[in-house]
Amino acid sequence: MSLDVISRKVLDGAAPSDSDIRYLIGLPDERLGELLRAAHAIRTAHFGNRIGLCAIINAKSGTCSEDCAFCAQSGHHRAESPEYPLLSPEEIAAAGEAARRNGASRFGIVASGKLVSSADLAGFTDAVRRLAALGVKPDLSPGILDCSQLKALKVAGLAGYHHNLETSASFFPNICTTHSYDEDVRAVRAGLEAGLYVCSGGIFGVGESWDDRVELALLLRDLGVPSVPMNFLIRMVGTPLENQEVLTSGEALKIVALYRFLLPDRALRICGGRLTVFGAAGKKALLTAGASGLMIGDYLTTRGGDPEGDLREIEEAGLVPETIKA
Ligand code: SF4
Repeated sequence: MSLDVISRKVLDGAAPSDSDIRYLIGLPDERLGELLRAAHAIRTAHFGNRIGLCAIINAKSGTCSEDCAFCAQSGHHRAESPEYPLLSPEEIAAAGEAARRNGASRFGIVASGKLVSSADLAGFTDAVRRLAALGVKPDLSPGILDCSQLKALKVAGLAGYHHNLETSASFFPNICTTHSYDEDVRAVRAGLEAGLYVCSGGIFGVGESWDDRVELALLLRDLGVPSVPMNFLIRMVGTPLENQEVLTSGEALKIVALYRFLLPDRALRICGGRLTVFGAAGKKALLTAGASGLMIGDYLTTRGGDPEGDLREIEEAGLVPETIKA
């Protein structure tokens, strides 16, 4: 077995075997550069030099009923985070227009909470209509909706449904105890059944093992999720993970590369924690390590990078942002 053989196999359309996966995970740090180059070649085979840029707005923040251990917005933790009800459709549309001007082709409306009230559903629908009229692809991360609700939003112009699985089924109880993993998987299936572009991924550096990372990737592959956001823990004071060890940039890059081997044709979008884990200098390495998308602007409760700097580094890495119509 060798890295070249596994790379060729994946480029030829075959899935890596269990022993291939073990081999990739076991590669020593000195061979990280080779692994990243191989992952980048797979990425290039499927995406050319295109990169998808997306942006989000924290449209409803704080006091969440759920207890996700990494999240400052949980009402179960003592972390400080902004608290406000759903923003008006006008405010959401104005933020979407600014993101579009900064190069984002997709704009996600993100709201805290698991269940969606009828008033919030009406607000989402109005905001989605406005964003679609601006020419940006509206995505929604509203909590759990069923297939008929998602189909109605699709009619209003919704392009994508975002619902993260966060980690493997086996590790999930360490991260969240207020709802089941199955509920999240059902939500992802509902989005796919509604014909929406489903964005579902996870968070890394929360104490999970390499086996958990592989388990999540293979489930996302088998569900048929086209887009996988990859978040890296930002330790938030007042959350149960405030003292969790931060991933090294090397381990984080290896996770991205491994996901490219396991999910060769899916969009891998680097989202929260990018600056914490990779640092500003690591962005270029990240852009050449198998990722095919990047979140620009701010995250939910933390500041992100400067969109102009992001665009400059994307260009330096030889990548071209997807246009809105791409
Ligand atoms: S990740 Fe989402 S569901 Fe979990 S606590 Fe935070 S806002 Fe709530």
